[in-house]
Amino acid sequence: MRRMMVVTAHPDDEASSFGGSLRLYHERGVETCILCLTPGQAATHRGGAHNDRELGEMRRQEFAAACNILKISRGVVMDYPDGQLHRLEMQRVVSDLTLCIREFRPQVLLTFDPAGGVTGHTDHTMASVFATLAFHWAGRGNRFPDQLNGSVNPHRIQKLYYASADFVLPGRQPVTPPPSTAIIEIGNYLETKIDAFRAHTSQQPLWQQFEEYARKRGGREMFHLSASVKPGPVELESDLFAGIIEEGT
Ligand SMILES: [Zn+2]
Repeated sequence: MRRMMVVTAHPDDEASSFGGSLRLYHERGVETCILCLTPGQAATHRGGAHNDRELGEMRRQEFAAACNILKISRGVVMDYPDGQLHRLEMQRVVSDLTLCIREFRPQVLLTFDPAGGVTGHTDHTMASVFATLAFHWAGRGNRFPDQLNGSVNPHRIQKLYYASADFVLPGRQPVTPPPSTAIIEIGNYLETKIDAFRAHTSQQPLWQQFEEYARKRGGREMFHLSASVKPGPVELESDLFAGIIEEGT
């Protein structure tokens, strides 16, 4: 079984940065898992919620609806504080992500780049940092050995990709994106990705700008191969599972 894991920061990140590829790989028989670190309770757009807890609950439901549209096998919203990921104890978050990796055993992991994607959001940067460490450490028997008590084993993911883009948003702090080394043709799943973004009804004020940029980008998503079990020069890829070796579960 082929498995892909995506680590994000907020409900709606899954659709905006990874939605087309998530849906495409589901169609290709890949089991997909999203770990969203926060319920997005600190968002600017509040959807009529009276407080953070209410908004978090609302956004968890929106995330579930988006996961339905993207046909995600396992969608998890964790309970870390939105807007505060850079203040958390690194060991705790990386340990949690490492355990999830050892349980789900993906061959491919996707997350934001350390610049924080086109928005440069600090939480996106931290999702990248935490996921990168968990990627490297999940396969090592000397990292979080307390987890290795029989229920899970070390798991080495074969490839780590960062989301990339060929545009920047005007009027924002500068971001320096990684070069695109994989271009995925998502075709009509562009529409599915837009539908999934629109499942986030509390974020309705963002719909129009998102759709405008998504359409400008066209039916493709871009990624940067950040790490691979196969050493060597990078080649431009059109398939995130190129060269992946499937093993027993
Ligand atoms: Zn986000």
